[in-house]
Amino acid sequence: MRAVVYSGYGVLPAVEEVANPVCPADGVVIAVRATGVCRSDWHAWRGHDPVTLPHIGGHEFAGVVAAVGPEVTRWRAGDQVTVPFVCGCGRCEFCLAGEAQVCPRQTQPGFTGPGSFAELVAVHAADANLVALPAGVDFVTAACLGCRFATAFRALTAHGRVRGGEWLAVHGCGGLGLSAVLIGVALGARVVAVDVVPAALERARELGAEVVVDASGALDRARELGAEAVMDASGGLDPAAVIGEVTGGGAHVSVDALGSAVTAANSVRSLRRRGRHVQVGLLLSGPTALPMDVVIARELEIYGSHGMAARDYPPMMEMVADGTLRPGLLVGSVIGLEGVGRALAAMDGRSAVAGMTVVRLPRLGRGWCGGCTERRSGEN
Ligand SMILES: [Zn+2]
Ligand SMILES: [Zn+2]
Repeated sequence: MRAVVYSGYGVLPAVEEVANPVCPADGVVIAVRATGVCRSDWHAWRGHDPVTLPHIGGHEFAGVVAAVGPEVTRWRAGDQVTVPFVCGCGRCEFCLAGEAQVCPRQTQPGFTGPGSFAELVAVHAADANLVALPAGVDFVTAACLGCRFATAFRALTAHGRVRGGEWLAVHGCGGLGLSAVLIGVALGARVVAVDVVPAALERARELGAEVVVDASGALDRARELGAEAVMDASGGLDPAAVIGEVTGGGAHVSVDALGSAVTAANSVRSLRRRGRHVQVGLLLSGPTALPMDVVIARELEIYGSHGMAARDYPPMMEMVADGTLRPGLLVGSVIGLEGVGRALAAMDGRSAVAGMTVVRLPRLGRGWCGGCTERRSGEN
């Protein structure tokens, strides 16, 4: 098969001919039809998140089941599917409870093994980890869901429990934060978006944020964006104080979508009494202080959110299929497999504002077989 391979950290990945993946007994091989390029892939390529070299990245994908292991009961060749970026083992107490996103033996295609910047990718524990694509959800749209979008959806629904009319604060408007803005608006929340980059706030505004807070103090620029309410967070005001003011006492739900000590603390401090903070941005620098005095005084709820298990996809899929959620709005460009190297390299200096890059792959030739099953895909 063709795959995008890099042999060393920071070495420009190139398309190469490599061996087809072996189908796991409890898994499937998926013919990739679309796969997103994520900042996590960039982190792995840059060596911030070690992988086994040479490596094939890619973890947000959709495609067609091409080979099925003998232990798989729920899936057949030809099924159109996507997969969460965290795959559970399918056997532990957490997986059996439908909580594969915290499986202690989790696998992540593109990190713990070869990923989806390839014509074929293997997925373990298929019965626990595959998600069927409903009619009307195309491969490119589905490839947008597996990482940032599903993570934001679960943060707001399972943990934040956002209801229509409630205030939602989103700290950090990268790919994850903009997903949270889009989903929050779709759920009927009134969204306050915070960032330090005017272009990020402009995107948040386009996606429906009612209030944007420029935490860098670029007040004039933010005003130009035409937000109904724009506050300057500089000059003695901080984002939490601004949010407290515009929401009449604080947000009901607040997410730190960036992952820093400052944004995590700001998120907690921007909550109204009995509010819910959800930490979705990874805090890679280790233990992080939170203002626990505020947590106690306001009786706040603090959650961590790590992806979303396949079990929890159907309600989100329904909302995508019926147009309530439009993840396609987050797509900036669609490229071919040969463009992946350049797309990763371009992330060195690029913000998420430019939109998500999605790789589209053509159908594989008819009759491909992974060697683990007699089944052949009639579909692809
Ligand atoms: Zn498990
Ligand atoms: Zn990702």
